Amino acid sequence: MLFRQLFERQSSAYTYLIACPNSGEAALIDPVLETVERDLQLLDSLGLNLRLTIETHIHADHVTGASRLRELRGCRCAVPDKSGAEHVDVPVREAEPLRIGSLELRPLYTPGHTEDHYSYFLESSGTARVFTGDALLIDGCGRTDFQGGDAATLYRSVHDKLFSLPADTLVYPGHDYQQRHVSSMAQERERNPRLGGGRSVEEFVEIMAALNLPRPKRMDIAVPANRKCGQTH
Ligand code: FE
Repeated sequence: MLFRQLFERQSSAYTYLIACPNSGEAALIDPVLETVERDLQLLDSLGLNLRLTIETHIHADHVTGASRLRELRGCRCAVPDKSGAEHVDVPVREAEPLRIGSLELRPLYTPGHTEDHYSYFLESSGTARVFTGDALLIDGCGRTDFQGGDAATLYRSVHDKLFSLPADTLVYPGHDYQQRHVSSMAQERERNPRLGGGRSVEEFVEIMAALNLPRPKRMDIAVPANRKCGQTH
């Protein structure tokens, strides 16, 4: 399998390229509009054919590059079914794996950051990876105070769906604000200060209620655009 982790500075967002080396088919998880050209150059330099863009959720802090990539490359947009987004080619549902050549990405419904949120599990050549979007970040998690977010729901998603994955599963988050790139499920289960180390749901709800975060600056642009796969017009 071919794999690249890409970063967009403004929103500290990670985009992931996964590709099947046999067929040359590729997918981008959470592409960002501002970095579409960079992503296309990388795909071209690796000789890959972009088949699918995949969203973990409707983002509030940046506009997805999905629509633009579809215009330029004719790929299909996979978006969580529960988002109710328009112009979706592949509605993501839990029991329906996404196929990229011989790779199989398994959607795990992990609501709580937003009510439409999915994580994606992928096993290839003996390595397990999970793309956790904003459900589980390295030593943290996404906020739970809008877009149908709910702290107790996120706690259950992480404990039931993510912490139950194999301990050596590599954790690739949707954001990192401190130049960290990857964690493991064992590390997050033991050390995540909000959700790991035996924290109770009550403690987690209290931590999240006390955050008092500002509203994302681009929310009023990003959310409506992302409900149309990133179309800004
Ligand atoms: Fe988010």
